[in-house]
Amino acid sequence: MPLTQQEFRTIYPLIAGWIQKTLAQHAAAARSVVSLGFSRLPDYYNADMLASSRVIVVERVPVPPLSAMGLARFAEFERMDAGGVTYLDTYFVRADHAHVESLHFHELVHVIQWRLLGPEKFLGLYADGLERFGYRHSPLEVMAYDLQERFELREPSFDVEAACRKRMRELTGLEGNPTILDGH
Ligand SMILES: [Zn+2]
Repeated sequence: MPLTQQEFRTIYPLIAGWIQKTLAQHAAAARSVVSLGFSRLPDYYNADMLASSRVIVVERVPVPPLSAMGLARFAEFERMDAGGVTYLDTYFVRADHAHVESLHFHELVHVIQWRLLGPEKFLGLYADGLERFGYRHSPLEVMAYDLQERFELREPSFDVEAACRKRMRELTGLEGNPTILDGH
């Protein structure tokens, strides 16, 4: 059964609170992306983006306890042990993947998505995509993986933020104020 708007309204404050707490707990370990010194990211992201986005290297990336919050349907996602995960302007990377520049590229796409949509719409769209298509085929992941592939294939550099804006318009049908939770 799909996540209803009512369920989402109930769960959203819990997830938002968990994110705030988790980021605060790791704040001392956060570094700017630019401080990592990757050579290719500046060809795709502007300097402000690389200076303001933050990275936290961890043994295991933190994921909200969705089952405990009543969303057992996301148990598989909770168990995934991903290489990276992004919350707002900060992403966590697993220590054994911390040197992989294309993973940082991928998580920075999510930073842009969080900013374009705002937290509530990001989480709503992400949860909806996860439920309907599974992790790898959810629209926000497809966007990140497609752009990451262009980076890995060393296509001529492009403005990732502009590419995200274009794809977000196609995805939500609206710019600036996507009403993505309608229809539930
Ligand atoms: Zn991703």
